[in-house]
Amino acid sequence: MYRFSRAIYRELADEIVEDSYEGPTVNHERVLRACEAAIERLATDRHYFAHPSRTLFNDIRIYFPMTAQLRVLRVIQHYLELADAFLRRLPQNGFDAYGNPLQCRASTRKGTPCQRMPLPHNGYCPSHQHLAATEEGELPLIAA
Ligand SMILES: [Zn+2]
Repeated sequence: MYRFSRAIYRELADEIVEDSYEGPTVNHERVLRACEAAIERLATDRHYFAHPSRTLFNDIRIYFPMTAQLRVLRVIQHYLELADAFLRRLPQNGFDAYGNPLQCRASTRKGTPCQRMPLPHNGYCPSHQHLAATEEGELPLIAA
């Protein structure tokens, strides 16, 4: 997965502004770590990561000059879309991109995490997929 974060970093590294008080590579390091964190979150927590591009952009935009902001956003969007497409194509063999077993996002009535295999499009197992609908804001109307 880190090939995506490294690609973002490589495209943007030349434009990172360094603060001479902190040292010559401090901000480069911060940008790389932020890119890695975003990719890792996309790979392991995609269903709860609502705006990956915007989040990463807000994390690292302060390390770039005003004139580079639009390019930074475009590069982030480009590679996060590639990473997301890659994750969607992964065989649904029950493991995420790091080899961790996939689990349904719901809890059982006893309060323990549901152990069933989730559906790829919403992260819930077939018994709990109705919970995805309420998450989208489609809360059932309560009759008066
Ligand atoms: Zn479940």
